[in-house]
Amino acid sequence: MRVVVVGGGIGGLALGAGLRRIGHEVTVFDRDSEVAATGGYHITLDERAQSALARLVAPEIMRRLLASGSALRLRDRDMLWDYRGRLLGYGPDLSGSASIDVDRITLRTLLAEAVGADLCLGRTVTGVGTDDTGIPRVVFVDGASVTADLVVGADGTHSIVARHLAAGPTNHPAGLIGFSGRTRLADLDPAERQRLGTRSTMGIGPRGAALYVGFLDPVGNAALDAPELNMSITTGPTYIWGAMFPESADTDALRRLHGSALQSALIARFRDRKWARHTLEVIARAEPAGVAAFRFNAASTRATDLAPWTAGRITALGDAVHATPPTAGMGAGAAIQDAADLVTQLRSLSADTTDLPAAIGRYEAQARQRGAAVLTAAMRTVRLILATDTTPGAVATATLTPLLAAAARLRPNRRRTANTDDV
Ligand SMILES: Cc1cc2nc3c(=O)[nH]c(=O)nc-3n(C[C@H](O)[C@H](O)[C@H](O)COP(=O)(O)OP(=O)(O)OC[C@H]3O[C@@H](n4cnc5c(N)ncnc54)[C@H](O)[C@@H]3O)c2cc1C
Repeated sequence: MRVVVVGGGIGGLALGAGLRRIGHEVTVFDRDSEVAATGGYHITLDERAQSALARLVAPEIMRRLLASGSALRLRDRDMLWDYRGRLLGYGPDLSGSASIDVDRITLRTLLAEAVGADLCLGRTVTGVGTDDTGIPRVVFVDGASVTADLVVGADGTHSIVARHLAAGPTNHPAGLIGFSGRTRLADLDPAERQRLGTRSTMGIGPRGAALYVGFLDPVGNAALDAPELNMSITTGPTYIWGAMFPESADTDALRRLHGSALQSALIARFRDRKWARHTLEVIARAEPAGVAAFRFNAASTRATDLAPWTAGRITALGDAVHATPPTAGMGAGAAIQDAADLVTQLRSLSADTTDLPAAIGRYEAQARQRGAAVLTAAMRTVRLILATDTTPGAVATATLTPLLAAAARLRPNRRRTANTDDV
């Protein structure tokens, strides 16, 4: 069977690798001219995502992934802060977690290696459809086209393929705009370094502002102790942060800024919302070239709304079906699991492919359920952040956070932190 995959991001490459392994003829097309041309942030892969990936790629690729990944079980307990830098509480106990954080660039590079010569870069798809005999066809920007037994749209949030199948968009803006950047732990002042520590944290404040600071250390906290296999682009303890604001004409204007101008504008926006200066040091000390903006898009949280088409010889996976905001850290994992389920369905097909639509239908049912679950988790945080932007929410945030901070101080297992009231 010949499969064409539109989009060589996380899900498309995972699918390409898996199809190659079971002997299908596959080509993955991506508009990017190089695989490293992707977001500089990290991706969390939980146990389910890792076991799906292990079914798709060779054991050697998995070993290199783990050697390049930062183990969540090795970092300190995550914390929740308020906008003044006061501790509000701790995250879940991750000491038994198998999850890893890995640079998106590293993950994509490894997956691209698994796909090898079947990945075609610099190919932008502009259309998809079927010919008179029902054979799927993909059209490129230069007018060229290819046909296949099956076309899979792994072309992300603004998928051309899913839009064709659904006869319209499959997701909508979720109401938040995000800005991400990377800051080396060593570049922070000692007090702030101590406050943030070797953990991931979330800071919340009134009027819809939130600051996630993820901790990544693929060297000191390597998930697999095999330094000779480590190909992480992050070479020391690093914070990868995400600033979030409600979408508005005002925040939209920030998206036109870059580098240090964007950093200064973000800091000014947080300061305007009364955030303590030290909590923003992580933004101020970031590498300016790595600061980027991204919009949160979300599909429906209802499984029945996802992939609303009749199963056939064109399908889609990942964000194309269930675009997921990064607030649950599960979108890429879900795309990988989609790929693994699709490979499992295709593996059991007979050679004449008459049973292909039924197999695609079974895969799409699985993708709908998974998509609804990850979207429900991700939207919980989005709604919480947006709630602080309402008048009652702003009052509640301003009055409740000092109470929560006081309660956290009284807790017997409270860990010592510095700078908790410094403004
Ligand atoms: C800041 C941030 C942090 C995140 N953190 C996490 C996390 O910790 N864990 C997690 O699981 N998920 C995370 N996500 C979400 C995750 O990145 C996505 O859910 C995931 O990448 C979806 O994979 P995908 O293959 O469906 O789409 P993508 O990875 O977006 O890939 C789509 C690909 O299609 C290509 N493409 C698009 N249109 C065309 C076209 N017309 N022609 C050819 N090629 C095309 C693009 O170039 C791209 O390579 C995060 C997202 C962001 C923005």
